[in-house]
Amino acid sequence: MDIKEYIRGIPDFPKPGILFYDISTLLSHADAWQVAMGRMARIIGAYQPDVLVGIESRGFLVAAPLALKLGCGFVMARKAGKLPGGTISHSYDLEYGSDTIEIQDDAIHPGQRVVILDDLLATGGTLSAAIQLCKKVGGDVVGTSALIELTFLNGRDKLDAPFEALISYD
Ligand code: IMP
Repeated sequence: MDIKEYIRGIPDFPKPGILFYDISTLLSHADAWQVAMGRMARIIGAYQPDVLVGIESRGFLVAAPLALKLGCGFVMARKAGKLPGGTISHSYDLEYGSDTIEIQDDAIHPGQRVVILDDLLATGGTLSAAIQLCKKVGGDVVGTSALIELTFLNGRDKLDAPFEALISYD
């Protein structure tokens, strides 16, 4: 099965000139989503993770089912101010301005094997920040992954951990 057939590119979203890869059509096709998650489970399982971290919000849709499939924990990396209790945060630069992501301070134990997931890798800024965040709390970031990689943006060069995507566009 070619998973690309279930992902659509929407021109000029969220702004003119951007081609947005939309996974909604993959999520809504039961068979294709099963196949995609099965293939992702093989990629992620090889890292033997204790915990999968999903990046808000579409990263949750990838990480939570994989955590269930692989029998590991699931941790949310969220935008600032969304998580209750004690949190650890990491700020990073965007093209214009900056952004902050957080996790709960007791979500990852030092030395745990962590794999971080998102739906898509573009410039790598978001995933790179999540890696730094997990390292701050002592997690051993053994791998990172996404359903889609936009290879022409070279985002993986920014990542301080192995990266593998299910499909790529160049
Ligand atoms: P990066 O930080 O430039 O690598 O951008 C990746 C982040 O932006 C991820 O959290 C994605 O969910 C989101 N993103 C960027 N481009 C797209 C797209 O074409 N489709 C879906 N998400 C995207």
